[in-house]
Amino acid sequence: MELLEQAILEKGKVLAGDVLKVGSIINNQIDVKLLAALAEDICAHFKGRGITKVLTVEASGIAVAVLVAERLGVNAVFAKKSKTSNVDGEVYCAGCYSYTHQKKNTLIVPKEYIENTDKILIADDFLANGEAVTALSEIIRQAGAEAVGAAIAIEKGFQGGGDRLRAAGLDVYSCAIIDSMSEGKIVFRKL
Ligand code: 5GP
Repeated sequence: MELLEQAILEKGKVLAGDVLKVGSIINNQIDVKLLAALAEDICAHFKGRGITKVLTVEASGIAVAVLVAERLGVNAVFAKKSKTSNVDGEVYCAGCYSYTHQKKNTLIVPKEYIENTDKILIADDFLANGEAVTALSEIIRQAGAEAVGAAIAIEKGFQGGGDRLRAAGLDVYSCAIIDSMSEGKIVFRKL
């Protein structure tokens, strides 16, 4: 998606450890107009698929998930990374190694928010090795619901997670895919 690629080129910063900082777009400040355009692009790909819910991980996936869910006319659910005092009752959980925090998290979703009849679109800000999408897919599997696909704002294609998930049969749609990046040079995959 050209608008997103332009924004990444103008505002993104490549940090050590293959991390792309896009604080002014999605990770600290949220560029609502740009994310609304992303949501539109994502909804065009997944339209007519009967999606009943959008599932993401706190915190940075929430903005993407909410805008997509609003356009689809469904609710968004986010997995928490730790069991806080306002989580009670039975939960689904799946382990996930956090790329940016470099530690293992357990993603937690209360069972009451996913029905076995749900058709779920996973959404996230980034896709790197695919840990977060895999853990969310596992939660959907535990709930007996259906994973319709994954909608990602920025995929770092060179890390392989997206292509591994596609090869496993998941419909992964990313608004921008980065094939390589280094300081001052970001190359996008032609979509
Ligand atoms: P994965 O689970 O696919 O390895 O990594 C995706 C998750 O890690 C996303 O939820 C995202 O929050 C975070 N992440 C991975 N790579 C980056 C990156 O380059 N920049 C930022 N801001 N977040 C990233």
